[in-house]
Amino acid sequence: MNLRVRPWLDRIDPYRPGKPATSGDGSLASNESPIGASRSVLAAISRAAHRVHRYPDPLADELRDELAVRHGVTPDQVLVGNGSDELIYLLALAYLARDGRAVCADPAYRIDEISAHVVDAHLTKVPLLDWRHDLFAMGEVGADIAYVVNPHNPTGTVRSRAEIEAFTAAGGAGLVVVDEAYIDFADDPVELTAVPLVAGGRVAVLRTFSKLYGLAGMRIGYLVADPTVVETLRKIRAPFSVSSLAQAAALAALRDSAFSEEARRYSIAGREALSRMFEEAGYAVVPSQANFVLVEATDEQELVARLEAAGVSVRPGSSLGVPGTVRVSVPSDAGRELVARSLGVDSDAVTAMVERA
Ligand SMILES: *Cc1c(COP(=O)(O)O)cnc(C)c1O
Repeated sequence: MNLRVRPWLDRIDPYRPGKPATSGDGSLASNESPIGASRSVLAAISRAAHRVHRYPDPLADELRDELAVRHGVTPDQVLVGNGSDELIYLLALAYLARDGRAVCADPAYRIDEISAHVVDAHLTKVPLLDWRHDLFAMGEVGADIAYVVNPHNPTGTVRSRAEIEAFTAAGGAGLVVVDEAYIDFADDPVELTAVPLVAGGRVAVLRTFSKLYGLAGMRIGYLVADPTVVETLRKIRAPFSVSSLAQAAALAALRDSAFSEEARRYSIAGREALSRMFEEAGYAVVPSQANFVLVEATDEQELVARLEAAGVSVRPGSSLGVPGTVRVSVPSDAGRELVARSLGVDSDAVTAMVERA
């Protein structure tokens, strides 16, 4: 017998991860936390290491209960996954496999796009309007799943909860998947989140521990959705996909609110300083509510090369579906110096300007 790869898999343009720079401070390609994880998280991981010969709790019940309380939902509305990426794949398997229809923005979050192609779904990409999701045009598609990344990656722009509610009510999609990976960096996360819409049954919200909590390497995220959605995904998931170390880390991260508040403040201040620096150097920057900024650069390659020469790795827009731009993650203080040097701007002056504002 000849071994044959399923023909629709040819449509997949493989994911290309951001390149790390030679220094951690210069690695601004993957929106990782500039201040890492809290010490209490590292201690929790060490304690959990003593039990790694045991299988993890399949559903991460302790974490799930705590997340349910925090979001004002019931535990059967929460599913923890191996990063939100695993949950995106499960949603595609459950609701898009064999001829399902999905709609997302163009540019899209690459995993939404790839997972739809993996299960042989029809995917429609709808161009952004003023850098934001064109919800009206997305509704016209009539999809099983509509992906709304809010704030969006790679633009950092948002749609309000009222806009998402109206989109859902208009019935243009069976399930609206709102990916809130960056919501902690938004102006008002409580006002913005779509979690209150979950009760209507047509909205699923994705969250991750990879960004604010600095746990990208642990692989843990979760979904808040109708119990029927959670039940379906439970049925098809790999039972032990979330490691015991990841579960312990996430619980400790949630409980260290002083640290997460600090991470939020640091990232927002750093984002403003980063935006000002690029503006000082003559670039336009898309106003961001995330932990990165999208910089408009007619000569994308030139800017990428200039930053690279200073030891800074970023994400070229053409690899994210937005040629003519460069996406830069919020750096640490040391990383900001590297960026300032490569742009020829005075980092202290910019920081002082942001502090005065
Ligand atoms: C970073 C990111 C995530 C996080 O994915 P994990 O698998 O939880 O690390 C999810 N969605 C978007 C849009 C992201 O940019």
